[in-house]
This record gives sequence, C-alpha cells and structure tokens, in this order.
Amino acid sequence: MEVQWLLVCHGLVTLLVVVSFLCGNWPIFQGTFIERIHFFLTFGAYDYFRRFIHFVCGSRGSNALNSVEYYCCDRPNPILQIMYLGIIGATYYFIATSSFGYIPGYYLSGLHRYTSFLAVGVGILLFLLTSFSDSGTVNSANVSQYLSAYPYDNIIFTEKECSTCKIPKPARSKHCSICDRCVARFDHHCGWMNNCIGERNTRYFMAFILWHFLICIYGVVALALILAGRLKESKVIHILTEYYGIENSLWALAPHVVQWLLGAYNTQILIMMFLAVVSLLLAGFFAYHAKLCLSNTTTNESFKWQEYLSWQRKVSEAKASAEALKASLDELGQERKPQISKWKAFFRRSRLEELEVVKNNMYDRGFLNNIHEIEQIIGILSVDGTLISSASFFCGAMWHSGCPRM
Ligand SMILES: [Zn+2]
Ligand SMILES: [Zn+2]
Repeated sequence: MEVQWLLVCHGLVTLLVVVSFLCGNWPIFQGTFIERIHFFLTFGAYDYFRRFIHFVCGSRGSNALNSVEYYCCDRPNPILQIMYLGIIGATYYFIATSSFGYIPGYYLSGLHRYTSFLAVGVGILLFLLTSFSDSGTVNSANVSQYLSAYPYDNIIFTEKECSTCKIPKPARSKHCSICDRCVARFDHHCGWMNNCIGERNTRYFMAFILWHFLICIYGVVALALILAGRLKESKVIHILTEYYGIENSLWALAPHVVQWLLGAYNTQILIMMFLAVVSLLLAGFFAYHAKLCLSNTTTNESFKWQEYLSWQRKVSEAKASAEALKASLDELGQERKPQISKWKAFFRRSRLEELEVVKNNMYDRGFLNNIHEIEQIIGILSVDGTLISSASFFCGAMWHSGCPRM
C-alpha cells in the first residue's frame, strides 16, 4: 500500500537523520555515508550557508554572521530557552485544539484535560528551577568549602588556579567561558537552560529530563487512546468487514484502518510521531546521565577521560609501532593474521577503555555510595512530593481511563 510505504520511508529517514546526527562521528561509521551526513548536519550545512552569505553580502555579511554566531554560541542568551517555551507551548496548543474535543472519549476520562495541563506546568517549573538556580558557583567566599569536597586525583584534576577568577580551582570544577565563572562538579553548559549544570542543579536537570520523557509517553498513550476511542465510536471495523467485505483479521484490516486514521486524524498522528521521537531522544539522554551519576562521573569528566585515554593510546601505539617495525621483517615470510572487523575492534576497545576509567576514577565510590551522593535527585522527588504524587496520579488516571466505560 502507498500509505504504508510512505510511513516506512518517513520512519527510515527520521532514524537515519537521528542516528547520523548523534552517532555519525563514532569510529565504526568512519568512511561511511552516515559519517558524511553527520558532517553535513553538524558543520557542512552551516559552512555552505556562511559561504552563501559571503557570496551575496560580501565581508559585511560575514562579519554580521560572526557577531550573531558569537552572541548565540559564546555568550549567555535566552534564544534556546524561548525556543523550548515555544516548542512546549505550540505542542500543547496543537494537542488542545485538535484533541481536547474528543475528551472525554470511549477510553479516556475528562480528567486528562486537567492532568495534561498539570504535567506541562510541572515540566515548565523544573525548567525554571534548572535555568535560574545556582549551578554551584565557586567564588573566594566558598572556595575552601569546595576544595575540601573532593580530593585531586592527579590524573584529570591537578591543583591549580583559575586564570580568570584568580582563585584555586577545586577538583571536578571547571571555568565556564560562557557564564564566565567557575562551577563546582561541572557537568556541562546547557544552552537550553542558559545555565551551567553543576553541583547544585544536577538534580533539577535530571528530574527535568525524566519528567519530559514521561510527558511525551503520556502524550503518545493519551492520543493513541483517543484514536482507539474514535475507531470504536465510528464503528470503522464493523463498516469495513460488513459493508466492504474485508476479512476480519489484523493483517487485512490494518492498512485500511491506518489509511482512515491518516485521512481523518493526521494532526494527532504527526504529534504522536513527534512525541515518540522526542521521548526516544530523552530516554537516551537520561540513560546516559543516569549511567554517569551511578559511576559518579560528569560529562566534563567523561571527555577528560577520553582525552587521557587517547593520549595513553598514542603513547602505547608509538611504542608498539617501533616494535612492529622491527618484527615486520620476520613476518614477511609468514601468513598474514586476519584483520579484526571494525565493529569488533570498536566494542572491544570501548570495553577496555571503560574498565580503565573504572580503575582510575577515584570519585567512583561504589554503586551504593554513588547512589547516596545522587540521592538529592531522588530527594527532590520525595521531599517536594509534587512529582511523585503527580506521577502516581497520572499512572492511576491512565489505568483508570484505560478501561472501557460500561
Ligand atoms: Zn574561573
Ligand atoms: Zn555556563
């Protein structure tokens, strides 16, 4: 069927773009078209745009573009914050205008008009908390407190002074050039929050990602229940089997049902697909950060470990190449060893490097202690009571409305 092929193509293209954008620079994709798409999406497209501006407007246009780039990427600015509010507001508006008319429906109670508003409200509250709370600024008044919090491991953190703030740099801190301040237990500078993620706001950041993942799943399930209800109320299956003589089986009915849904409820289906893709990205992002928290590492530290391991690798490769050169003459007469595939080499090296980090990371105090350190994240959920009670409220409401009304 045409519609099915369109859906398959849409899914494949979305998947290709997402995988290329997020993973295209992995060593396993070296030399493949995925690496080329990644290059185009992350650098090439903007480079063509820059050349186009230079071609059309000359050096004045290029200078203006450089100023915009400096403001957007190197200075604190609210562009992405406004974009976040725009995306969440527009998505809620489209859902409300296209689907609230079907609530209450066959499978969904009228309560969801209010719970959806509450879910978005809590999401925005977490966004504001992460954006406007102190991320853990280190200054001359509190530097001694942060210096005693973590010892220097002398591998990725050594005792030194911040050349800008002119104060000692505590272990695990970093000077953020955008915010222009040192931040304790620095994770990364988040453009969406226009703030650093550090010692004092990691908990809000984690709660923000988890909550937005839950909102997306809630949206997908609620819209699916609305469509299922419309299918039931419109007696589509009955009409298809009785009047059109289509066989009453899933495989025979599915293409016709999909075609009917796409024709009558395309807005809801597009919103569902958008929410599903966003929820997948958020799930991956949350899993990555949860893994970092459980091993008591930050994003900044994981980059530092990669640099350290790559330096170690270069040293050992230099040593090995000298020995290999010597041994190569002996191997000339022998049969060549089969080469390890790129995939196997990638996963074997990732595993070895992970073990190397686990061995050297002195801040990793074991699974339970790490959980204890990040329990502040769970603390916010239980102390405030808002999130956990809201989450159980939604689960209960979904469960309740999942049953067809008698
Ligand atoms: Zn500094
Ligand atoms: Zn920052």
